[in-house]
Amino acid sequence: MEWLEVSVNVDNEAAEAVAEVFARYAYHGVAIEAHPERADPVVVRAYLAADDQLRANKRRVEEALWHLGQIWPIPVPSFRSVAEADWAEAWKEQLRVLHVGKHIVIRPSWLDYAPAPEDIMIDLDPGMAFGTGLHPTTQLCLETLERMVQPGAQVLDLGTGSGILAIAAAKLGARSVKAVDNDPVAAKTARENTSVNSVREIVDVVRGSMGDVAGRYDLVVVNILAQVIAEMLREGLGARLKPGGKLIAAGIIVDQEAHVVEALGQGKLALSERRQRGDWVCLVAERA
Ligand code: SAH
Repeated sequence: MEWLEVSVNVDNEAAEAVAEVFARYAYHGVAIEAHPERADPVVVRAYLAADDQLRANKRRVEEALWHLGQIWPIPVPSFRSVAEADWAEAWKEQLRVLHVGKHIVIRPSWLDYAPAPEDIMIDLDPGMAFGTGLHPTTQLCLETLERMVQPGAQVLDLGTGSGILAIAAAKLGARSVKAVDNDPVAAKTARENTSVNSVREIVDVVRGSMGDVAGRYDLVVVNILAQVIAEMLREGLGARLKPGGKLIAAGIIVDQEAHVVEALGQGKLALSERRQRGDWVCLVAERA
């Protein structure tokens, strides 16, 4: 498979809006990479599949960026073709050791970092699945998990991507974690990452979606997109929570927050926390 990589150098303000545009047409591998040393300190990158939709998708991305350019200064994007094998390599040059929350440290597996005793290490080779830890929605989820995973908890991670949240939950003390993704590449990557992080006994990776999950959980984390989360809530996501269980919902652009809040109400879940970073919102809701 060939891919068309699209990348844009922007400032922090514009990064999330550009990532959102990319996510619309190239859901795979959308990444926001920090380069504090540069004038435009963020590179947003994504990959469009070189299939029969490529030309149409490329045009849509260009148009959407042009529209965004009316609000923020956005340079012309760069495009380059990459073979699948090169893709994982392209990521590697960009990633750094990343500290999130109080004690979580995300270490690309090819970088050296000597952990402090209190560090909760996640070794991550994201390959081609979303979830490098750099995205603000992922960071919001990690910070929330750090506060909310109780020892022995049973956790469900819907849309696991690289497996980052599932691995974090396991390392934070969860007894069992079900990690689900409908993308086979993500499921495979997540499975590999659970091995690398020695949490394979705790994290069970399943290729599928909400319909493939049974049982009830103390904590459900879903970092996808507002529409998908609202749809899952309407399909009964709330019933996957134990009484007193909590849902962490993220990946929500602030403009679309109301859809999720409404669906929470319909699902008889009570909103208990709201945090926002840039345009991204992370909601916590509880089952009464
Ligand atoms: N949990 C990771 C990745 C989030 S990206 C993180 O927080 O960084 C969202 C993931 O959800 C992608 O891997 C995508 O394949 C998956 N996804 C999207 N829609 C889905 C659905 N309906 N069911 C299951 N997984 C879905």
